[in-house]
Amino acid sequence: MTHRINAQPGILDITPYVGGEGKTHGANHVTKLSSNENPLGPSARAVEAYTALATNIATYPDGSHFALRTAIAEVHGLRADRIICGCGSDEILSLLCQAYAGPGTEIVHTQHGFAMYAIYAKVAGSTPVVVAEDTRRTDVDALLAAVTDRTRLVFVANPNNPTGTLIPDAEIERLADNLPPHVLLVMDGAYAEFVREPGYDGYAGLVGRRDNVVMTRTFSKVYGLGALRVGWAYGPDHVIDVLNRVRGPFNVTAAGLAAAEAAVRDTEWTEHCVIQNEVWREWLARQLARAGIDSDPSHGNFICARFPDVDTAKAADAALRQRGYIVRDVQGYDLPGCLRITIGDETATRAVADILTKFMAAR
Ligand code: PMP
Repeated sequence: MTHRINAQPGILDITPYVGGEGKTHGANHVTKLSSNENPLGPSARAVEAYTALATNIATYPDGSHFALRTAIAEVHGLRADRIICGCGSDEILSLLCQAYAGPGTEIVHTQHGFAMYAIYAKVAGSTPVVVAEDTRRTDVDALLAAVTDRTRLVFVANPNNPTGTLIPDAEIERLADNLPPHVLLVMDGAYAEFVREPGYDGYAGLVGRRDNVVMTRTFSKVYGLGALRVGWAYGPDHVIDVLNRVRGPFNVTAAGLAAAEAAVRDTEWTEHCVIQNEVWREWLARQLARAGIDSDPSHGNFICARFPDVDTAKAADAALRQRGYIVRDVQGYDLPGCLRITIGDETATRAVADILTKFMAAR
C-alpha cells in the first residue's frame, strides 16, 4: 500500500516548471536557443574567479554577500545595504511570496508573465490572479483593476518573457503611484540589461524614490552565469530587512559570489554582449518578417516568433530541431503559433534564419 502524506492545499494543482530543452535526437550538433542564455558566455574574468575558487571549497561562503553587493552597488550606483542576493532571482521571487503572501491573499501577475509567479504564489498558499494582456503587452489599467484588499504582490517583468515587449517607464511609474499602500510591486528585470531605450534605468530610480517597489535581476542572462544560480534584488530598507529574515544563511555559493562579482565589474564584456545581442536580434527580426513570420519588437535576448497558425509553428519547431536548433515552444503560455528563439551567436542566428526562410517558402 502506498501512503501519501498530505501536502499543503493547492500544491498538487501545480504543474512542475520545465526549463528549456537542451538535447534532441537525430542531430549530431545541438545548439540550445531555448533558455535565453548568453551565446558568448561569461566574462573571462568571471571564469577565472570561478576557477580560482576550486582550491578552497571546504568553507562556507560569505553569508552576507558583502563583496558582491558592493560590486553591484558600485557599478549600478546603488546602495549596497539595499541589495540582497539569492540563488537565482527565482529564489528572491519565491522569498517575496513566502514573506508577503499566504492563505487568503492574492498575487497579481500578467497573462504572459514568467510561469514561476503563479507557482510561487500557490506554494505560499496565496491565489494567483492572472491579468489579460491584449496584444501581448502589459496593461497597467487592467493590473490596477485586478488589485483588491487581498492583493499583496504585483509581478511585472519589463521587458517581459516570453513576449519580449517593453512598456514605457512612465507606465510603470503610474502603476506604482496608483497601487494601494498594502501592495508591493515587484519589477522583474531578468532582461533589463538588454534594454537600449534612452533614459531606461531598470527601475533603480523608481525603487530609490518609493517604498512599494522592489526590482529583481539575474546573472543567468547577459552575464552568462546560468549554471551558478545568482540573482539579486534592490528594494526599500523594509523589504530587504524582511527578505534577509526569511532567506537561508548561505543561499549563494562561493563560486557564484566570486564569478558574479567579477562579471558585474567587467562592464566592457557586458556592453559587448548587449550590442551583439541587439545587432543579431534586429537582423533576425528582419529576416523572419521577410519570411512571413511576425514578431513584436523585442527588448530582450530572444524573439517571440509568431507563425501563421499552430500547425505551422509545430512544423517549424520540428524543422529547426531536425537541424539541431532547439527553441522554446511557448504555445502553452497562451501564445498559440509562437516559438521563442534565443538570440544565438552569428552562426546560429544565420542558420536559424536560413532554416525558417526555406521552411516558410516550402509550405
Ligand atoms: N524572471 C524571468 C522573467 C525569467 O525569464 C527568468 C528565467 N527564465 C527568471 C526570472 C529567473 O531567472 P534566474 O532564477 O536564473 O535568475
